Amino acid sequence: MKFFISADIEGTTGCLNWDYTMGKSREYEIQKEIMTQEVLSCVKALTKVHPDCEILIKDAHHYGNNLDIRIFPKNCKIIRGWSHKPHSMVQELNETFDAILFIGYHNAATMSSTPLSHSFNGSKFQRMRLNEEICSEFLFNYSIALHYGVPTILLTGDMGICEEVRKKDSSIHTVYTYEGVGESIITKTPESVYDEIYQATIQAAKNIKKISPTKKPYTLQIQYKKHTDCLKASNYPGSRMLDSVTLSLSANNILELEKAFLFL
Ligand SMILES: [Zn+2]
Repeated sequence: MKFFISADIEGTTGCLNWDYTMGKSREYEIQKEIMTQEVLSCVKALTKVHPDCEILIKDAHHYGNNLDIRIFPKNCKIIRGWSHKPHSMVQELNETFDAILFIGYHNAATMSSTPLSHSFNGSKFQRMRLNEEICSEFLFNYSIALHYGVPTILLTGDMGICEEVRKKDSSIHTVYTYEGVGESIITKTPESVYDEIYQATIQAAKNIKKISPTKKPYTLQIQYKKHTDCLKASNYPGSRMLDSVTLSLSANNILELEKAFLFL
């Protein structure tokens, strides 16, 4: 068995604000440890159910060097940094994987379920929609996995993104880490979340259903924070400005769209 884990930090336990996500702060040092332990809980459970499995982990936050690689077992490989290829947070994902799992994910830009809600470039994009749905990083990456016929079996993150995920596909196991209230969060403890991730991954890994690839057209709508960014992006072939800050672009499938997204 081959598993792919994409790991972010904003939806990990106790992640309150941007101080916890980057820089030289003590908060970030602690949060990296929590992120590492959450991914490790998932790895331990996958390996318990499938002792011969291979696990590829994309460290998919900021500079891509958050995880403490020293404590992961031999059956893991970890992708650090950014390739600048279109898959980005799911770099190297392809049809050879049996399932994908998302750890530490967060709700989409403009959603109120976490103080840290954003979609990809938070300083540039006000809101994104993918085929009319408000687009989180999860929805985008999930769509790439669908293209390859790789089932998503688990997601952990803030309570709001977990609800969105279950609406999308009720077969995906979710573990919520905290509930956002304005600029505050009501967080579970790491001890409780590590255990819940382990148990949920065990359940998810025992019951993996094969799915066929879904290759379909997508339309991405991006609402920019600055009208000048929208105007600049509108030079991309095939894109269309809907108003001074909103751009629309359609593609035959998600792989074509994600390539274009690199330039928007
Ligand atoms: Zn992040």
